[in-house]
Amino acid sequence: MKWLERLRVYWILRKHALSDRDWFEVTRKLPLLESLDSSEKARLRLLTTLFIYQKAFSGAQGFELTLEVKIIIAAQACLEILTFDLSAFDGWSEIIIYPDAFRVKRETQNESGVVSTESRVLSGEAWQKGPLIFSWKDIERDSFQKREGHHVVLHEFAHKLDMLNGRANGMPPLHPEMTVTEWTDSLSTAYEKLCKRVERHHARIDAYAATNPAEFFAVMCEYFFTAPELLFERYPQVYGQLKGYFRQDPLARG
Ligand SMILES: [Zn+2]
Repeated sequence: MKWLERLRVYWILRKHALSDRDWFEVTRKLPLLESLDSSEKARLRLLTTLFIYQKAFSGAQGFELTLEVKIIIAAQACLEILTFDLSAFDGWSEIIIYPDAFRVKRETQNESGVVSTESRVLSGEAWQKGPLIFSWKDIERDSFQKREGHHVVLHEFAHKLDMLNGRANGMPPLHPEMTVTEWTDSLSTAYEKLCKRVERHHARIDAYAATNPAEFFAVMCEYFFTAPELLFERYPQVYGQLKGYFRQDPLARG
């Protein structure tokens, strides 16, 4: 980190520090963070503080934004970048929170080029270079109790990581020690297997992962942090690639 950037971080941490009370009161309610050790928690607190300072949160349809809400979102999002720095979430700044699932209208084009409008109800959505949108009800449901393989915050922020190198396609920028071939082989083999298992109703993994490779990656990230045993048992190669990518090993945390 350059000295000017260090100075800026130091200033933010001094001026906008989260109090012990706010930090501990909120994070003790989040099972996702339970197994982190004290140095990981300290790092997470630092990232969360910077995140809250840098991102613009807003409530829609009367949703009341509080510091607690911001910490709940930021701390769980920053678990994904615990070994990176905040630049992994660069290129966008807005987080919009609705009280409940929200309806969106999208124009879609079928193979023959016919455009139609589709209306869908969503719990979260990540826009390329744009905002992240959440339903608070869904964040609450996934944050305050352990739900194997379901975590809307991890899911949408995984899309943001994926979008760092262009459109979401299931492959974020890899570290130099990783290889595109190994990543692609591991994830595409598992994706194809999952699609077959979903067809036969044999999948123990959320069938939404079979939508496309981008959703597969986002759902695998949910399992990696919330149900690492299950992911390792079902798709050990995917676990291995995610362990290399996140530079974390949730299985070893127990
Ligand atoms: Zn998604």
